Parts: sequence; structure tokens; C-alpha cells
Amino acid sequence: MISIEWLGVATFRLTIGDMVVLLDTYMDREPGAPQTGISTSDIDRADFILVGHSHFDHLGGCDRVARNTGATIIGSHETVRLMRDLEIPEEQCVAVAGGERYRLSEDVLVTIFPSQHSCIWATTKGADEICLGEQGMTLQDRNAVLQRRFARRQGDQSDAARIISAYPRPRGEGGPLAYLIDTPEGRIFWKDTSGHWTGILRDIRPDVALLAAAGRGNIDGEPIQGSLSQFMAREVDLLRPRRVVLSHHDDYLPTPSPRKHADTVDPVRAELARQHPGVELVDLAYLEPFAPLGGLR
Ligand SMILES: [Zn+2]
Repeated sequence: MISIEWLGVATFRLTIGDMVVLLDTYMDREPGAPQTGISTSDIDRADFILVGHSHFDHLGGCDRVARNTGATIIGSHETVRLMRDLEIPEEQCVAVAGGERYRLSEDVLVTIFPSQHSCIWATTKGADEICLGEQGMTLQDRNAVLQRRFARRQGDQSDAARIISAYPRPRGEGGPLAYLIDTPEGRIFWKDTSGHWTGILRDIRPDVALLAAAGRGNIDGEPIQGSLSQFMAREVDLLRPRRVVLSHHDDYLPTPSPRKHADTVDPVRAELARQHPGVELVDLAYLEPFAPLGGLR
């Protein structure tokens, strides 16, 4: 029996028989932020932690879960470096870059792929609003935009600004990864930010895709010339799953937060219905157990 629970942002708890696999670990939110009803101190069992990338809203809490459960962390070299800084033993960490296969149990195999982060330097609007331009920028151009934004935030006294600014990220997201989990019941694909390499995604054929819907979509290193909803439809077009479980569309920072749950779900649902009417879109409530592969075979 396979089940998932959404723990907020792109964090899921995946249970496969008696094995527990956490996909990201961010659940300890600031006071004043909408809460999910679970914290890392409630996670008493985990065998593995797969980390999509090392931003705080994904990797946050990983050291606590690893310490409490003894789970093996699989993530980028930057993720492993940050965990080592927090004194997680080297033997509890597996550094990957994409291109590896890792056996989680006798009948569960995970394949790791290099991926892309959403374009945090580029203009982001509502999920159904078209964004254009900002292509061909150098890394220096992108960093300059981020620095200007950071400087503006210095004067912003809101809790949300304080949390984002407080988190050190000299090496950014550390190289995003995507994971394909092969189980006896079917194939589960998970990715925790809105970006991809076309040539990689189009050869993966999962039964169900857990996809992050947030920000300006990244296609092969460039911002989508279109909306977030169109980006999500494109990921479905490349992956061809039968079911999509949405994540990262929730509001996880203290008010005023830029995110509003339904503002993303409804446009994505409408776009998928237009372009991929046979694909089921699942929008889970926090902690609601769901059989991701149920009824697909
Ligand atoms: Zn991120």
C-alpha cells in the first residue's frame, strides 16, 4: 500500500509498505504563517529523505528529521554540505548530481535527474497572467536583479521579508534535482520547483507526477514566455502522467504573503482541462492521506 500526505510547500511524506520516505522536510513555519498541523518533532519515523534543492522552504528542518529518525538524506552536494555544517554525520548523507540510481528497498528504486529552479530573478505575476521577456540574461544580470530586490527588502519590516532575507544562500539552490520513484504499484515523479530540462522531462513516463506550481517557470534555463498555468500544462505535456498532484501553491509565510492558494489552483486546473482533459489534477489538503497510484492500473 502506497500513500502520500502533503505537509505543505513541496514537502510530502511518502509511505511505501513499511518504508517512510520524506520528499523535502520544510514544515516548521514561523509564527504568524498559516500552519500545516505538523512539525518536524512529530516525524518519528523516516527511512530516507529526498531533497529537491537547498532553499529554506525545502531543506529547512532536514537536520532535525535526520537526527530524530536516523534517515538517510539524498540530495545535492550543496544540501549535503549544509547538513554537514549542522553536524549530520557524513555516512547519513548521499550526495548526488542527477544521473544516479539509488535502491531504497528490494522493490523500490529511485532515479535522480538534474533539474532547473523557477526563475527567481524574473517577473512573476498571477498564475494565469502572461509574463514575457527577461531572456538571455547572464548570471551577473540575474544576480544584480536579486541584489536590488534584496536592498529594497532591507527597508521592509514585514515578517515575510525578514524570513526570506535572513536565510543565507551564497550558493543559491545548490542545483535542483528531480526524482522518479519506481514502486511495485507504479512510478511516482516528484519535483519541488517550477523548472525543467525539456530533454530530460520528455523521456520520463511516470504514472503520477507531484509538481510544484510557483513563480516564473524555467524552461532549459530561460523564463517561460507565458503563464505559470501554461508552464504546468507544458510539464504535463512532456511527462504524460495520468494524475498530477499540485504543490508549492500554498501560503507559507506570515502575512502579508504574496501567495494565495486558490489563485494558483483554479487557473492551473482550467489550463490542464483545456490542454490535457484526460489528466486528473489533485489538490490535497494538508495531512490528508492519499493513494497516489490508486485506480491507475
Ligand atoms: Zn527554491
